Amino acid sequence: MTSSDAGSDPVPADPHRLELLADCGSCFGLCCVALPFAKSHDFAADKNAGTPCRNLQDDFRCGIHTRLRDEGYPGCTVFDCFGAGQKISQVTFEGISWRERPGSARTMTEVFPVMRQLHELLWYLTDVLELRRAEPVHREARGARADIERLTRAGADELLAADVPAIRGEVNELLLRASELERAVVPGRKKNHRGADLMGARLRKADLRGANLRGALLVAADLTGADLRSADLIGADLRDTRLTGADLTDALFLTQAQLNAAQGDASTKIPEGLTRPGHWQAAAPR
Ligand code: SF4
Repeated sequence: MTSSDAGSDPVPADPHRLELLADCGSCFGLCCVALPFAKSHDFAADKNAGTPCRNLQDDFRCGIHTRLRDEGYPGCTVFDCFGAGQKISQVTFEGISWRERPGSARTMTEVFPVMRQLHELLWYLTDVLELRRAEPVHREARGARADIERLTRAGADELLAADVPAIRGEVNELLLRASELERAVVPGRKKNHRGADLMGARLRKADLRGANLRGALLVAADLTGADLRSADLIGADLRDTRLTGADLTDALFLTQAQLNAAQGDASTKIPEGLTRPGHWQAAAPR
């Protein structure tokens, strides 16, 4: 769904990375079927898991794709399946949709969160392999990525039987080591806000270079002009976080969905390979 919010910056050419970019044209609209949502600021209506969204068209395209924010569905612009949708549609179910084989809808709905997590891990492992200072863990990362890639090509039964929490745990340990190695480039003591509740925090022009912000709750925090170079932002909640003038150059494990959820503008420096969200163009400088 995140492609709807994308601007026009270049996308990466790494073939591993390309497979992890959502290709909605090759997907049976799985995120719009599998995921539940509740009527709120993010979604204009309720929807149960396994039920097609009322805006999903017969060709599996979103009928309000270019107007999601205006129509009350900003939540759809900050979700990224990391290519899990097309993998299930074209590999697991060999191109046969839940409309052509209605009995498959339930299994697709069950497989979707499993595949999505596996693809998210592949994304982060690909990040690790692009971190020059994390070279000591590259071999291990390559092995983990190959193992997970093999699993993503297995049948639905094997995918549903996979111990995803255990896989996540192993990969997370590797990501932590990669983060430590990479952030060592920043001299001195670095701030540690791992998992911190920084909702609405005033962090204007804060020096967060090389900081540990893993899983930090930064909803509506003011990071205007903050220095976030080489900060680890894996899993940080950046909904409505103000990033005008912030420097996110070389920020670790930052995803497109996180950027889409935040508020920035042309003065925000973003890591290479990510796209400046379309709605940032209209954001008023603060
Ligand atoms: S509004 Fe569009 S993108 Fe969002 S769930 Fe419905 S069909 Fe999918």
